[in-house]
Amino acid sequence: MTTREQAEEAVHTLLQYLESNPKREGLMRTPERVIDSWDEIFSGYKTNPEDILEATFNAEGYDGIVLLSNIEFHSTCEHHLQPFSGKAHVAYIPVDRIVGISKLARIVEHHALRLQNQERITNGIANDLVDNLSPLGAAVIIQAAHGCMRCRGVKKQNAIMTTSSMRGVFFDKQEARSELMQLISNSNQR
Ligand SMILES: [Zn+2]
Repeated sequence: MTTREQAEEAVHTLLQYLESNPKREGLMRTPERVIDSWDEIFSGYKTNPEDILEATFNAEGYDGIVLLSNIEFHSTCEHHLQPFSGKAHVAYIPVDRIVGISKLARIVEHHALRLQNQERITNGIANDLVDNLSPLGAAVIIQAAHGCMRCRGVKKQNAIMTTSSMRGVFFDKQEARSELMQLISNSNQR
């Protein structure tokens, strides 16, 4: 188990790799600030999906698509420790239980605020919806720009990566997928 003190010391070592005098004023408290910011950007390690999706309500016969679109998120690429950010569209079709809409945003945060790749976030959200809500279908579409590709390597500023995970009726039925895509595109025209 690495202590907070050891983590700060490690940041100090990295600073020393860059500059011979990491004790200068501007860098003095940088290790402390970096670890503070890590507590925030990696807070997904402290939450769990069962708690987030636990409180459900009777759907009262509603059997259409529930979609929360354009959920902005920030995550960190596990290969380069570079940020990547974008938006997620999360949908499900309830069987008899619905969940408070903010929980869909929280489940995105749970997955984004960790060391990640975009594919795993996409699948993880869909899995959690299926496991906890047993819906007729679940769908997750994520569009993101990756810092590790913008600032280094191939240096593509505007490339957007899209991933999708379709479960249940969204996987089986073209009609369900088409309706979902229409709803997402409508929500972007508002
Ligand atoms: Zn990367």
